[in-house]
Amino acid sequence: MRFAVISDVHGNLEALKSVLSEIERKGIKEIYFIGDAVGYGPDPNECIETLSNNCKVLLAGNHDWAVLGLTDVSYFNDYARLAIEWTKNVVTENNKNILREFPLVHEDTEKDCFFVHSTPSRPQEWNYILNLRDAEIAFYSFDNKICFLGHSHQPFIIEKTPSGELLVYKNSTVIKKASRYIINAGSVGQPRDGNPMACCIFVEDDRIDIVRIPYDIERVQEKMRMNNISVYLIERLAAGR
Ligand code: ZN
Repeated sequence: MRFAVISDVHGNLEALKSVLSEIERKGIKEIYFIGDAVGYGPDPNECIETLSNNCKVLLAGNHDWAVLGLTDVSYFNDYARLAIEWTKNVVTENNKNILREFPLVHEDTEKDCFFVHSTPSRPQEWNYILNLRDAEIAFYSFDNKICFLGHSHQPFIIEKTPSGELLVYKNSTVIKKASRYIINAGSVGQPRDGNPMACCIFVEDDRIDIVRIPYDIERVQEKMRMNNISVYLIERLAAGR
């Protein structure tokens, strides 16, 4: 088992490129992308194209669906909604057609892994797993050993032991034979856990790591300014909030 899981790129090409070079440097060949290629960032087209060219599996997130008009945006906050309107106008028809092909879930029976952007039970409702209670319920909604998800932009590893105990890891863990896992890949392009570096997951044999990768935040902020994207969205990148 050797692969990377990336999520929530959100039109941030600089972050995506840094993550892809680190994955390449590590010699990892398989990349699973689990949703939100676009929304917020200044390079949605380039991100869709780069992801399509580099990832083995590509899933849709709520922002991707919003740009395609497939999901209601009334629950989006004002910044997210404005960003979606901007993105809708910028993404080419060709790239919208590429996005439209992204499914909501993917199961890899060989690896015994399940992949989804939001939650395994009702992916199209875009609910969040924010605490151990949410996780407890989610463990009953997939049959595989590991479920990878994103959406909250907060990376974590939750282990469910055979006795039903839930353990949380913030950086890494070793996969145990009888345990099951829910792993949040965090966000490549808009981390919100207080660490502004791009985030992704590396799985190598029985080891799972939450990896942080620096990238040129100022360059992205400059592009956002040139495109009149909101100051709030520009500033949050540097804060990682
Ligand atoms: Zn997202």
